[in-house]
Order: sequence, then structure tokens, then C-alpha cells
Amino acid sequence: MSDTGRMEFDADVVVIGGGMVGLALACGLGQAGMRVTVVEREMAHPSRSLGRDCRVSAIVAGTVEMLRGLGAWRRLEHEACAIESMRVWDDQRDGGIRFEAGEAGLDALGFIVENSVLAGALRETLEELPSAELLCPASVADVRWRVSAAEVELDDGERLRTPLVVGADGGRSWLRARAGIPVWSHRFGQQGIVATVRPAMPHRGRAFQRFLPTGPLAFLPLTGDLCSIVWSAEDGEAARLMALDDARFLEELQRAFGPVLGPLLEAGERAAFPLRSQLARHVARPRLALVGDAAHQIHPLAGLGVNLGIRDAMVLAQEVADARRFGEDWGGMPVLERYMRGRMPDVLAVLGGMEGFHHLFTSRVPGMGWLRNAGMRLAGNAGPLKEMLMRRAMGLSLPVPRRIV
Ligand SMILES: Cc1cc2nc3c(=O)[nH]c(=O)nc-3n(C[C@H](O)[C@H](O)[C@H](O)COP(=O)(O)OP(=O)(O)OC[C@H]3O[C@@H](n4cnc5c(N)ncnc54)[C@H](O)[C@@H]3O)c2cc1C
Repeated sequence: MSDTGRMEFDADVVVIGGGMVGLALACGLGQAGMRVTVVEREMAHPSRSLGRDCRVSAIVAGTVEMLRGLGAWRRLEHEACAIESMRVWDDQRDGGIRFEAGEAGLDALGFIVENSVLAGALRETLEELPSAELLCPASVADVRWRVSAAEVELDDGERLRTPLVVGADGGRSWLRARAGIPVWSHRFGQQGIVATVRPAMPHRGRAFQRFLPTGPLAFLPLTGDLCSIVWSAEDGEAARLMALDDARFLEELQRAFGPVLGPLLEAGERAAFPLRSQLARHVARPRLALVGDAAHQIHPLAGLGVNLGIRDAMVLAQEVADARRFGEDWGGMPVLERYMRGRMPDVLAVLGGMEGFHHLFTSRVPGMGWLRNAGMRLAGNAGPLKEMLMRRAMGLSLPVPRRIV
């Protein structure tokens, strides 16, 4: 598309949803000089308890490099807690696996960052990009797809004509439904309970994941020697845990987690999220692309959802920027198919891997406990296999741009 052609449009790209993924996409596009408008319906009001947002994300090393490339990492670095090692074990006595950052030649396996801190850093980055704007609070009333443009109508009547509209509006994406795109969806019948917890002993940068018969329980290190927990439990059990008072909840948490960090002294407010795997049947249509949870949702035991979403954002931003450089229509299917082909192998591998992992660790079929312990021992002892697993999990071996050029 020529630069004169571009000017017939109000924006080069309109992104619906200014969560972590939509903002990362807009920063990448803005960095490449594209005129991008983000429409976000609400100002973020994180629920803070013990001084922290109870929603946090494990950000793997590959994603840190991308956030650095976007210019957002330096704004949040001081609030991110490095994961120096990770221990995974189950309720059996033997088995278990430990990952050390040093084994992959790194200082950290990843970082734990509060979601509101990451979104705040991306917003600040966006505000400094002259060709990018964030409309917030703003909502979309309708989107119509024409042959040569998409027309986005906002609630206040404003209309934006654009070659490409992107859905970054989360797992219940309004835009995906408006486009009539069905999803493949699997409810685990579980809720993920999140809270900030204060243990008696320092975590020393260690993350813990314990597989219980009801689902995984993660303790993730936060700055200030606090931990963030994600406790996945079946719906009925989760409702019971949510209804306990703080003292009883701490007692049950202590029993489930064990004595690794000493007595658990305090727990902040709890929140529960239904867990599902979900995949949109199409992540691209003419003049429409889906990114992040709007395109796919995975079980949080991987701690990879937002990492996958930011990889989507970087690949899409680079394809759009390249299309502009070569005078191609970036809302057309040839460009969007390149985005799709670039992302599907990674998304399907993570989604499929997590389904298998979840069944392996929650199955009550006899012999399964032996199998997973043997698997963990094998992965834990086989140096090259373990290193490969670690580099793969950290997103270091993927064809995703670190910076949009
Ligand atoms: C318990 C739990 C723990 C998790 N832990 C991790 C982890 O450790 N690491 C990790 O990588 N991932 C983790 N995840 C997954 C991660 O939270 C999601 O993948 C991530 O939030 C997806 O980001 P997103 O920007 O795509 O969507 P969202 O965060 O859902 O953002 C969507 C945005 O769109 C806006 N919006 C929605 N509809 C409209 C509309 N019609 N108009 C305008 N705006 C709209 C919303 O207000 C919101 O701001 C976890 C998830 C859960 C449930």
C-alpha cells in the first residue's frame, strides 16, 4: 500500500483491547512508525493486597528480550523478581525436577511481574510514540468489514477506517464473536486461585510448582520476599477454599505446599479464575487478526499465556511493518497468512503440551504416578534434554523478532 493510499485511512491498524498483549502490539507498530489506535474499555484497577497486584505473570527470558526491544523493560525492571531456580515435584516421595538458570547459561529463568506493572510500563512506552494513541475508556459499538477497509464505530459515534483491525480483547473476545469465528474450548472444571502470601523464610529467587491430585500449586517469588500463589483446584474444592477465612486458608495452603518456606504468615485477598484451554478456529480473516487470549488460552500451569500473546504481537507487528515497506496491503490475506504460519507451530505445541501435562499430573489411572516420576527423573538427569527443554520453555529458540525494524 502506498503512503498516499494509507492517508485515506484514519489509522494503519486499530487494536481492540489494551491489555498486556494489545499494548505490546501497539508499541511494536508505533516503533515501526505505523499509525496505531488502541481502544480499551476500562482503566485498569488492580486489586492490591499486601501491597501487590494479585495478578502476576511469569515472564520468560525470550519475552524479556522482546520487552527490552520495545523499550518497556527498563521501566519495570526494578519491580520484577528474578526466578533463579524452579523446583517441580508431586505428592509422591521420590521424583521431582529442578531447573537452575545457570544450567542454561542465564542469570534468570524468567521474572515474576505484576500484570498492572507490565501493562503500566507498556502504556508509558506507548505514550511516547508519536504515531500511536490509546483511547481509554472507549468501547466499540460495531465493526463492519468492507473489501478495502474495516470500519470501526465507537460508542461515542466516532468512526475509524483502517486496513486492519486486531482483536486483543481477551478470552471472551467481542471482536471474535462479531466476526462469527467459533472456538475450540475445553473447560478443565478447575479454578485458579491467586493471592499474595508472606512466608517466614526468604524465597531466594526460587519458584515452586507442586502437583497435587487436584491440580498444580505454584509459589512464585515476588520482590520484598513475598510470594504469589496460583492454586488450581476442582470447581467445588475451589469454592470451598475461597469461602475459608484467612487463618483456615493459610492452614490448608501450608498443608498442601509443605514446609519448604517455613510457616506461611499472611495471605492477601484471593481471586479465582475458571481455567480453560481455548483456540479460535481462525486467527486471521481479511482485515482481521486475533492475538493473545482472543486467539488462544492455555492452562496457567505453564505460566506462558501472556508470553505466547507477546510473541503473537511481535510477529504480527513485524509482518505489518514489512508489508508497508514493500507496498503490500497488510490487511490482506497473504500478509495475515504469514502471521498465522509464523505463530501456529508455537501455539499448537504449547497448547497440546499443556493438555498432555495436565492429564499426566492429574490422572488417577494406576501407574501414572510411576510414569511421571520416571519422566521427571529422566528429564532432570539428562543434561542436553534438560537444557533443550529449558531453552524451549524460555522462548529462546523461536523465530520471533526481538525488536521491530
Ligand atoms: C490464574 C492465572 C494465572 C496466569 N499466570 C500466567 C503466567 O504466570 N504467565 C503468563 O504468561 N500467563 C499467565 N496467565 C495468562 C495471562 O494472564 C493471559 O494470557 C493474559 O492476560 C492475556 O492477555 P491479553 O492482553 O491477550 O488479554 P486480557 O489480559 O484479557 O486483556 C484484554 C483487554 O481487552 C479489553 N477489552 C475486552 N473487551 C473489549 C472491548 N469490547 N472493547 C475494548 N476493550 C476491550 C479488556 O478490558 C482488557 O484490558 C495466567 C492466567 C490466569 C487465569
